[in-house]
Amino acid sequence: APVNNKTVAKSTPAEDQVASLVSQILGESKSGGAKAKPDYVPSPTKCGWERADKGSASDDAMVSDVIAKVLSESMGKAPASTAKAAASCVSIAVSDAEATELGDGVFATMDEAVEAAALAQKQYLFCSMEERQSFIDGIRDVILEPETLDRISHMGAEQTGMGKYEHKIIKNRLAAEKTPGTEDLTTEACSGDGGLTLVEYSAYGVIGSITPTTNPTETIICNSIGMLAAGNSVVYSPHPRARVVSLLTIKLINRKLATLGAPANLITTVQEPSIDNTNAMMQHPKIRMLVATGGPGIVKTVMSTGKKAIGAGAGNPPVVVDETADIEKAAVDIVNGCSFDNNLPCIAEKEIVAVNQIADYLISCMTKCGAYLVEDPAVVKKLEALVINEKGGPQTSCVGKSAVYLLDKVGIKVGDDIKVILIDLPKEHVFVQEELMMPILPLVRVPDVDEAIDFAVEVEHGNRHTAMMHSTNVRKLTKMAKLIQTTIFVKNGPSYAGIGVGGEGYTTFTIAGPTGEGLTGPKAFARKRRCVMVESLNVR
Ligand code: NAD
Repeated sequence: APVNNKTVAKSTPAEDQVASLVSQILGESKSGGAKAKPDYVPSPTKCGWERADKGSASDDAMVSDVIAKVLSESMGKAPASTAKAAASCVSIAVSDAEATELGDGVFATMDEAVEAAALAQKQYLFCSMEERQSFIDGIRDVILEPETLDRISHMGAEQTGMGKYEHKIIKNRLAAEKTPGTEDLTTEACSGDGGLTLVEYSAYGVIGSITPTTNPTETIICNSIGMLAAGNSVVYSPHPRARVVSLLTIKLINRKLATLGAPANLITTVQEPSIDNTNAMMQHPKIRMLVATGGPGIVKTVMSTGKKAIGAGAGNPPVVVDETADIEKAAVDIVNGCSFDNNLPCIAEKEIVAVNQIADYLISCMTKCGAYLVEDPAVVKKLEALVINEKGGPQTSCVGKSAVYLLDKVGIKVGDDIKVILIDLPKEHVFVQEELMMPILPLVRVPDVDEAIDFAVEVEHGNRHTAMMHSTNVRKLTKMAKLIQTTIFVKNGPSYAGIGVGGEGYTTFTIAGPTGEGLTGPKAFARKRRCVMVESLNVR
C-alpha cells in the first residue's frame, strides 16, 4: 500500500516497525558521525560523497533495505521496489505553496544557484554510470507518476494561459519516456601497434538552460534527462510566465534524485526568474555551456556570449501538399498536427502550400475533420486586429489559444469539434509569414509542386527547423528535403511524428537548427575527449 501522507490515516504495525527502525538507524548514524565531513568524499561504492544535511547516501540504502525487509516479512513477499517507491512517495510531495520556496534546487540568487550546481557536478563526477542511469530512471519515474503528470500538465496550461491540458499530458509523458539516457553515450575505440585510444563523451560541467513558455515543463524534463545523462549539472532560467510550474518540476526532480542518493542540487534555479537573472547566468564564469530553447532573440544572445552555445530557435513550418498525395489522410494529419497543444510546438504546421489541382478538395476534406473555413474578408481583418501586435508579431495573449476561443473573440460561435481556423490567403499575408503559435492555418495556392517547394523554402525563412510534405512522388519528396534543409522533415504524417509521436525515433523538446546539433540528446550535451594508452592493451 502506498505510504502517502495524504492517504494514510493510521499506521499499521509494520509501518510502526519501519518508523522506529528508520529513526533508530538515522539516530545511530548521526551520533556515530560526529566528526566534521568535507563537502564530498570520493568513494568507489556510492557516488563518492556524503550529504552533510540529510544523512549519507549509504544511510538511504540502509533505510531502503530495512524497509524492504520489514515489509517483506510482514506481507510474506519481497517487495523491494515497493519499499523504495513508498520511501520516495513520502519524501517527494511538494505542495503548491512550497513550490516557490527556497530549497530543493531553488535559490535566492543566481550566483548561489550556479555555485550549488557546480558543487553538485563535482560530486557527480564520482558517481558510477549505473548510478547515473538510476537517476535518469528516477526522473522518468517521478514525472510519470499519474498525479504528477496530471498536476504539471494542468499547471502548465493554466499558468501560461497557453495550450491544452490533454496535449500537455502527452508532451510531458513523451519527454519522460522517450528522451535518451546514458545509452546514447557510445565510446569509439581504435587499437594498433601504438596501443589503445578511446574517445568518450564527457560532461561540459554546469550547463545554463533557458526554457520557453510554450513547453515549460517538457523542456525541463527533457533537458534534465539529456544533460544529466551526459554527466552535467544544470542551472535553469525558466520563462517568468511559467515560474511556478517550472520551479515545481525542478523541486520534484531534485527530491526524487535525493531519494536515490544523488548529489543535492544537480538541477537548480532561482526563486524569481527574470531577464536580469538570465543575463547573470549567461555571464557566470562557472557556466560552461548555454542552451537556449526559445525565440530568435535569446538564441542570438547565447550565441554572442563567447561560450559554447546550443540554439534551439523559432520555426515557421510549412506543409506542402501535391496532387499525388492521399488528400483525405493529408487533411486529417494537417488538422491534427496544427492543432496539437493549440499549435504551440515549434514543429507544428504553420502554413499549407497546396497545388491548385487539389487545393479545393483538400479544403473540403479539412472542413470535415475539424477545420473552420473563414472566407469573409471582414472576419480575416478582425482576426488580424485580434492576433497581430503593433510590431507585426503574434499577440502574446492569443498565443496557444484554441480555435474556439479565437473565433469567439471575432463573434463566431463554434463547437469543440473545431480545432483549426483555415483561411485561403496570398503568399505575403502576415499569417503566412509569421510564426503565430495558434491554430490559425493559412493555405497558399501554387500552380505546381516545384513552385510549392520553392515557396516552402522561402517561407521557412532559413530557420532550418521543420517542414512536412504530403506526396507519393519520391523524386519531389527528395527534392524538397534537399532544398529546405530543415532539421526535421516529415513525409506523409503529422508534424509530431518528427518528435517520436507515431513516428520512429527518440524525442526532444530542444531542436537545435541554428547551431546544428539537431534533435538534442546526451551526446549534444557532452564533449568528446580522447584517452590514449601507449603501446599497451592492444591484443590483436
Ligand atoms: P522567448 O524567446 O520569448 O523566451 C524563451 C526564453 O528566453 C524565456 O526563458 C525568456 O525568459 C528568455 N528570454 C527571452 N528574451 C530574453 C532576453 N533578451 N534576455 C534574457 N532572457 C530572455 O520564447 P517563448 O515565447 O517562451 O517560446 C516560443 C519560441 O520558442 C518560439 O519562437 C518557438 O518556435 C521557440 N521554441 C523553439 C524550440 C526548439 O526546440 N527549437 C522549442 C520550443 C520553443
